[in-house]
Amino acid sequence: MEKVIVFDTTLRDGEQAPGASLTSEQKLEVAYQLQNLGVDVIEAGFPVASPDDFKAISLVAKNIKKNIVCGLARCLEKDIKAAHDSLKKAKHPRIHIFLATSKIHLKYKFKKAEKEILDLAKRSTKLARNYCSDIEFSPEDATRSNRDFLFKVIEAAIAEGARTINIPDTVGYSYPQEIHFLISDILNNVPNINKAVISIHCHDDLGMAVANSLSAVLAGARQVHCTINGIGERAGNASLEELVMAIKTRKDVFGNFKTEVNTKEIFRTSRLVSRLTGFLVSPNKAIVGENAFRHEAGIHQDAILKKRITYEIMNPAEVGIRSQLVLGKHSGRHALLKRLKDLGLKLEEEKINTIFERFKELADKKKEIFDDDLIALAEEETRAEKKACELVSIRIVTGTDIIPEASVKIKYKRKIYQKKSTGDGPVDACYKAIDKITKIKAKLLSYKLEAITKGKDAQGLVRVEIKTKGKTVTGRGASTDILEASTKAYLDAINKIVS
Ligand SMILES: [Zn+2]
Repeated sequence: MEKVIVFDTTLRDGEQAPGASLTSEQKLEVAYQLQNLGVDVIEAGFPVASPDDFKAISLVAKNIKKNIVCGLARCLEKDIKAAHDSLKKAKHPRIHIFLATSKIHLKYKFKKAEKEILDLAKRSTKLARNYCSDIEFSPEDATRSNRDFLFKVIEAAIAEGARTINIPDTVGYSYPQEIHFLISDILNNVPNINKAVISIHCHDDLGMAVANSLSAVLAGARQVHCTINGIGERAGNASLEELVMAIKTRKDVFGNFKTEVNTKEIFRTSRLVSRLTGFLVSPNKAIVGENAFRHEAGIHQDAILKKRITYEIMNPAEVGIRSQLVLGKHSGRHALLKRLKDLGLKLEEEKINTIFERFKELADKKKEIFDDDLIALAEEETRAEKKACELVSIRIVTGTDIIPEASVKIKYKRKIYQKKSTGDGPVDACYKAIDKITKIKAKLLSYKLEAITKGKDAQGLVRVEIKTKGKTVTGRGASTDILEASTKAYLDAINKIVS
């Protein structure tokens, strides 16, 4: 069996998606889950991009010991130095350098001749190699580059010590057969190619990222770049779950290949990334969409009951989708504990007591408690450690013909405060009342509300992004009352600023 190295770039290319920004702590939370999932490489960010990025990569490098942790750098000394510095604590560091090789990029982006680019590739690989033994080199826009020049650059990078050559279809322009020829050509025309692993990095602009990546594997690539839920720049990257499950499911085609991914962790990883980025997974998304394993047609349902393979090519349990167990008012502590354990939520003893209390409160408000409700509850409790402010109560008067007014009572730095404010809407009124208490002037950058589960009594999950003194933080809050969820989300973000 030949191993296909899974290079996850959710925290770099994925996080680059407009509106997906994650805090360092959230990045670490995702990195831990990627470790459980069993990816080989975690690209944690672009260290030179911002101090926040640098901090996040350092944090991941310090805590993640099983996987290779990778930082991205342009072919610039300051970038490579920053990548090296951010990865100082990593057990298995990798520096990923990139340099555009296509005529379009050379002419309009760099205004440089091919010879200068070739020299730069050599110098930068050499420099990076002085810092780190594991270097990955990407000729950006490779699929639109002149072949002979591309071969020369690749040969030079390998000669200077690059161990992995990553071929990016940067603009998502290629198609499977073309990628197959490109990889074969590289194998046949780069004399020292046997000293490096060929990798593939595909974007989904024409919806072919996964197909292109798989085609590259069949042609000889042994590393795939991918992201959870396929998030990334523009239309996104090749999706990890689709790649891994295609290799696993089509044994007739990919029988010689394997990945180290524990597929049972796929669903949980997908939902974690979705919750933290605020990017919902569309219901028809392959592998992880809500409808991916649902059968509506009666004929299908009937056949499935007789024999699953009639209409189902994969078992949902293989990707970690369990049948929903619905808990309610009469469910005991034991049932709750068992379900939390099944969901993979590890909690300390004292936390379990609080969660059980919160569970009972919630069961009073809504009849059926689904897995996602429990996950939201557990998440709130695990994040609740150092709270500078906590919600005591809110009272809101609102309507279509009056100015909304909120009275908010919170515990702030161990004292109870209560303030009133009007606002453009009830949420705005609550936030203004909180600002009066904390005296923190925060700008609300985004506000998102979604229902955690189905039904009119579903809990609402609010995610806010606020900015104060140049710092951007996010906050989340869940409740059956959306105004309470909104207030909690705002306080969650304020807590991050205060701490
Ligand atoms: Zn990319």
